[in-house]
Amino acid sequence: MAYDFDLFVIGAGSGGVRAARFAAGFGAKVAVAESRYLGGTCVNVGCVPKKLLVYGAHVADELEQAAGFGWTLEEGHFDWGTLIANKNREIERLNGIYRNLLVNSGVNLLQGHARMTGAHEVEVEGQRYSAEHILIATGGWPQVPDIPGKELAITSNEAFYLKDLPRRVLVVGGGYIAVEFAGIFQGLGADTTLLYRGDLFLRGFDGSVRTHLKEELEKRGLNLQFNADIQRIDKLEDGSLKATLKDGRELLTDCVFYATGRRPMLDNLGLENTGVELDPRGYIRVDEQYQTTEPSVLAIGDVIGRVQLTPVALAEGMAVARRLFKPEQYRPVDYQNIPTAVFSQPPIGTVGLTEEQALAAGHKVQIFESRFRAMKLTLTDIQEKTLMKLVVDAETDKVLGCHMVGPDAGEIIQGLGIALKAGATKQQFDETIGVHPTAAEEFVTLRTATR
Ligand code: FAD
Ligand code: NDP
Repeated sequence: MAYDFDLFVIGAGSGGVRAARFAAGFGAKVAVAESRYLGGTCVNVGCVPKKLLVYGAHVADELEQAAGFGWTLEEGHFDWGTLIANKNREIERLNGIYRNLLVNSGVNLLQGHARMTGAHEVEVEGQRYSAEHILIATGGWPQVPDIPGKELAITSNEAFYLKDLPRRVLVVGGGYIAVEFAGIFQGLGADTTLLYRGDLFLRGFDGSVRTHLKEELEKRGLNLQFNADIQRIDKLEDGSLKATLKDGRELLTDCVFYATGRRPMLDNLGLENTGVELDPRGYIRVDEQYQTTEPSVLAIGDVIGRVQLTPVALAEGMAVARRLFKPEQYRPVDYQNIPTAVFSQPPIGTVGLTEEQALAAGHKVQIFESRFRAMKLTLTDIQEKTLMKLVVDAETDKVLGCHMVGPDAGEIIQGLGIALKAGATKQQFDETIGVHPTAAEEFVTLRTATR
């Protein structure tokens, strides 16, 4: 049977654009439908605008350090409106680049919501298209618990477009987004409190990293409240918000920002017209080659709920394009040792196993850990400490995990990700010549096991 397209991609985000472009490059006839914004979450309301705001907040650190290097500065003034307008301009530029990338690679770009009307059929704006393969790459959406007053709260989606920087902010959650936005709000001058329901935030990260970041954020004056959760939110007459906590305490604020995870975006997708099934967590169920329980339909990225990171969605998109249209180049995505950064202030960089994971997996581990004050701070009064940690298999000498909290952690951890992928041993770390004077060289000079 002749189809309109070889591949119909739903969603022009990180994974969808990558799959569409490469499939078209391999000679396939491809369409991609996008209902909201080209480039998806990462470009519009995720990684990119977030990092720009983090840079903005970081300027406060540079200004604070300047006096130690002999600089006398007029009192600084920050304007939220300027930062947001400049950020918006950059995002629009990127939207244009994504459009050109797709169109120039021969992809048919359709604007509008896509809904599957069958195993080989998609409807966009009243028009039906047939396709041999359909790829669901619809991403995720912020999830706010169902509490009274939840409509008074914002999520990351709205935070990027706030008209003004709130004077007081309550951030709820203890994952990537909560920690990153707490740093943004506080760095830009808002009186910021982070509420997390458990004992210590960043569950799943290495224990030393979690404790170290907690201490550093407290040194910066961030109000961290653990074992705390909101029961209801009310608007007061003066426009401010009152958050009543489960323990009965009442906190006044101007903004409640929820970062309590993301759900798969399946709204009006027409799954019921296909044999696509969900897994027990509500994400689209796929096999190791991203095929759903409907043979002609595949799914990648946040909507399958594996690892919700842009480079992972890109790798999955590439794998699908190759498997369908260039099978001789197909290679499965390697989910081991995925490096990642949390752009908190200071940031976290991490790759491989945490100490807790290594022990749970039955490894005998040697831990090499160092805390030091970065050279740049020695001419200032700032007492921030950097943490570096290696988790090593005591029997094979293989480095199982590298963890860092400190300036440029994300930049440093990328290279260590390659070392771990190559199976580097602690001896090979030790035999690598350092780059001096840097903080990164500490990773090759950690001589004595701390435990
Ligand atoms: P998305 O990029 O979400 O794209 C899905 C697209 O599908 C969207 O454009 C959507 O509009 C469209 N769509 C949905 N339904 C339909 C439909 N029915 N019809 C047509 N179009 C539809 N990851 C990192 O690696 N580093 C970071 O620093 C980072 N920071 C982040 C910060 C925030 C605040 C957030 C929210 C996420 C961040 N992420 C980060 C995660 C990253 O953004 C996601 O993992 C990534 O965007 C997932 O890509 P995707 O292709 O699965 O989906
Ligand atoms: P996460 O899943 O990382 O964190 C969610 C947090 O909210 C956890 O601390 C969780 O607590 C808490 N939580 C969940 N449900 C509730 C509830 N009902 N009440 C109170 N607290 C709750 O989600 P995020 O929203 O922070 O980010 C989504 C994903 O996006 C991340 O996991 C990451 O993959 C990606 N991302 C990546 C970034 C990067 O690479 N730098 C930056 C931002 C996002 P508990 O731990 O107790 O379950």
